[in-house]
Amino acid sequence: MQTETRVSGEGEWEIRRIVVIGAGTMGHGIAHVAAAAGYDVWLNDVSAAAIDAGLAKVAANLQIGVQKGKLTQAAADATRARLHGEPDLRVAASLADLVIEAAPENIALKRQIFQTVTETLPPYSLLASNTSSIPLRQLTDALPHADRFLGLHFFNPVHLQTLLEVSRADTTSDAALRSALTFAKQIGKEPIVVRDVAGFASSRLGLALGLEAIRMLQEGVATAADIDKAMELGYRHPMGPLKLTDLVGLDVRLAIAETLAREIDPVRFAPPQLLRDLVAAGKLGKKSGEGFYRYEA
Ligand code: NAD
Repeated sequence: MQTETRVSGEGEWEIRRIVVIGAGTMGHGIAHVAAAAGYDVWLNDVSAAAIDAGLAKVAANLQIGVQKGKLTQAAADATRARLHGEPDLRVAASLADLVIEAAPENIALKRQIFQTVTETLPPYSLLASNTSSIPLRQLTDALPHADRFLGLHFFNPVHLQTLLEVSRADTTSDAALRSALTFAKQIGKEPIVVRDVAGFASSRLGLALGLEAIRMLQEGVATAADIDKAMELGYRHPMGPLKLTDLVGLDVRLAIAETLAREIDPVRFAPPQLLRDLVAAGKLGKKSGEGFYRYEA
């Protein structure tokens, strides 16, 4: 099915329909904010159960918003009505003015997804990845639509975080970038624009602090709680670097560190042994019940 998408007079894409690939931690949140802003949204995943769970999480978060008086029941209902599940990636891609991929941080997997998407993607649709560390050129070098491909890096939890990091590959057109910035404003996010380098700005800076904190813990400089307190009270960070690593996931941070060590500097971003040991032991942070801290089930 073709959409009516066209480039407008200002040289921007007219975006009405959005497809989000991957219904996990990030994907359901991206679908939430896009539907809340008035876009029609299709959520795709290899797992039908993940689509159902993602849609259910959005519904639950909308109800929390209603209970807190942040939105009306009518607005929550309208948002839910704009959200759909679509398990067939080719069908989903055929509906999209903008595709946002939020599948696991794996180059081969993401490349395969983009190959499939381009089989049915309408000719003027924008294509974006929510990758937190992979250089865009490693995802697009085999794609026929590199001029309309860019990075849209959201933050967790997506419906509460304001920042949207927009990354531009060498091949990304000016019109595609302008369209992405307009979209960011439409969904109430504050964009920053970053060149296509591994880890962009936010993951690279966050990781530098996180890895140093882990090395300090490894060297016995202070306890995890005191290292975190140093940044929370001394530098007004809302959360210390070890607590944040627990929230992001130690496995996710290890994958980002490995990418940045490979792409930028093998010494500066070398994953500390303690991080490797905790991941090998299944201590992945909040999601597994233990990381640098222990969590109640
Ligand atoms: P997640 O594991 O929570 O969700 C990934 C989803 O993708 C799962 O539901 C899985 O079933 C689905 N999936 C797997 N293969 C697929 C395929 N071929 N087609 C469609 N869906 C598929 O992962 P996440 O934390 O949401 O991360 C997704 C992306 O967002 C990654 O690139 C990650 O680096 C990035 N990111 C994560 C965070 C974070 O805090 N978790 C923050 C910013 C960016």
